[in-house]
Amino acid sequence: MQPLHARYPFLEGAREAVEAAAVDLSEVVATDETVTQRALERVEHAITDGTVGEPHRRTRVELLSYPVARVLVSLVDQHVCTRKYARAEAETAHERFAEEFEQTTEFKSTQSERVELRDLLAEFDLSASVREAETGYWVAVGTYLDLAADQRGDEWRLVNRPLADGRVRITDDDLHVLLKQAIRHRVEDGLPFDVPDVIADELDGEVEQLREVLADLDLTREIDTVVPEMFPPCMQALLDQVQKGEHLEHHSRFAIAAFLTSIGMTTDEIVDLFQVNPGFGEEATRYQVDHIRGDTSPTEYSTPACSTMKSYGDCVNMDDLCKRISHPMAYYEKKLDDADDDELVDWREENGEDEAEADA
Ligand code: SF4
Repeated sequence: MQPLHARYPFLEGAREAVEAAAVDLSEVVATDETVTQRALERVEHAITDGTVGEPHRRTRVELLSYPVARVLVSLVDQHVCTRKYARAEAETAHERFAEEFEQTTEFKSTQSERVELRDLLAEFDLSASVREAETGYWVAVGTYLDLAADQRGDEWRLVNRPLADGRVRITDDDLHVLLKQAIRHRVEDGLPFDVPDVIADELDGEVEQLREVLADLDLTREIDTVVPEMFPPCMQALLDQVQKGEHLEHHSRFAIAAFLTSIGMTTDEIVDLFQVNPGFGEEATRYQVDHIRGDTSPTEYSTPACSTMKSYGDCVNMDDLCKRISHPMAYYEKKLDDADDDELVDWREENGEDEAEADA
């Protein structure tokens, strides 16, 4: 098992390496908690923040967590989970290969550890369909239509592309996006599959946890109420830091921005709220919030689950309700449900009134 396989576990070579090591998945899920835990993280991160989380430092754990993650996705058996999981694996691979393609030949000694463009083209049977152009590439129309089908934006429409001899002109970055799509298809292929009982029984707890995370996310889509006093302790603490003008790490900034977006705040309202912070850059904040919302990205990001918040050290001041939920949005929804109507004064209305009084 090579580190390359752990970074790109969907490759045929990675599958062969697992086979060659005669790994018995039923034994892995029964005896190797580290692999199961990392597999759970892969799927949970995919659902909540569109990534597959931090890789495990051990190649074996990281590589084996991929087939176990596929088992979990199959057992959860919900389309949204399969879709988000395949996307997250593809996004992660995209980031990695784009970075590896860019590395210069100075590091040639470690080249065998990196994936190259020609390897990926061969892996997905694209070597004959993609030809290098003076700048960028020419790709066969059929391949283009297949791999660009899900892309948003007019620039992906065939009519807006140079076309010659049955080939479409694309840039280097476009080719990376098409490769990402090929990876997504590979990951999605065959999911969900039937899982033998002997494996499924060992993963009951993990499957339950993933279903809870999904249920929490679905339940909370409709919220459009901003009552900071009802926020979960983690979000109250982050909001407090924002308002005191303290510096926030990227993951914390992401968490609070995603939470505020999920409860119905507009980009302008969030930008206003962040304005007191010295690290505030209006454009960067606006871009980040639009990105989370899915306006400038193909993915709509969700508030991180409690497990992710904990792993980043953003889970603080837990209270009794925290022990009964697995997602900050579920906490907030429960609080809103239990509150009396007169307690539910929307922060935006309050602020609007204050501003109106100040103007008068
Ligand atoms: S348990 Fe969840 S909701 Fe409660 S503080 Fe931690 S991350 Fe927030």
